[in-house]
Amino acid sequence: MAEHLTWTVGPVRITRVEERITGVPWAGLVPAGADHLESCRPWIDPYVSGSGNSLLLSVHSFVVETPETLIVVDTCVGSAEGAQLAGDPAFGDRLARVVGGFDNVDVVVCTHLHFDHVGWNTVERDGQLVPTFPAARYLVTADELDADRDEEDTASYERAIAPLEAVGCLDAVESTHRIDPWVTLESTPGHTPGHVSVRITADDEVALILGDLVHTPLQFAFPEAPSNPDYDPAQATDTRRRIVSEHGNEPTLLLGTHFAPPTAGHVEIDENGNARFV
Ligand SMILES: [Zn+2]
Repeated sequence: MAEHLTWTVGPVRITRVEERITGVPWAGLVPAGADHLESCRPWIDPYVSGSGNSLLLSVHSFVVETPETLIVVDTCVGSAEGAQLAGDPAFGDRLARVVGGFDNVDVVVCTHLHFDHVGWNTVERDGQLVPTFPAARYLVTADELDADRDEEDTASYERAIAPLEAVGCLDAVESTHRIDPWVTLESTPGHTPGHVSVRITADDEVALILGDLVHTPLQFAFPEAPSNPDYDPAQATDTRRRIVSEHGNEPTLLLGTHFAPPTAGHVEIDENGNARFV
């Protein structure tokens, strides 16, 4: 695998650690994408298959290293059984190398509880699920923990969250929780009830790890295009519109949790109001 993509925000370093990239037909995730694709070329090209029939869905973690805290944002699929996306058993080694050993991680942020964001929260040891990052506090919003769970989310919870609660390393936090002087959570509901993004700030530099409020940058141009798993499509649309209006034509670095490389960029809005991600 190629070198990991990295970005810096002042003294903070962000590293993308990839588990896998899968082509997903538009109908399977963002159905309106098929209709809007041509109007988004050529800037959308890195994020779709050659034919354009599928969006390229990347599953990756972001490692955020500040002067005080080593943070992992979302832990991918892992060995979740029956998952719609396959994990990669070698991902753990890649992540361990980037963080210099799982013991070094101080905080794990789960933007939400879907299986492809919590898979490596735990590992099986002697027949028991234990935290992958033994010294870390795991953060999930209280709203997300309190939300109703369907069968699939219940399976994720049992495998990736309940074992953390059992040993006392799970923190139910507010959606505006501050981790350290550089990193805060930001409420971005709609995909799930307690979904959060992660904001990194250093002087006048800002980056935002989006989570699943968007699955493809096409949704910056068409915020009303829902993702099939969005829990509240109207609220998800409102959140996408807010992000586009707040960060359009601003220097904010936007990092897509499911965007294939180059993964990060800026929203530019032209004089006709058309947005693109570059
Ligand atoms: Zn996801």
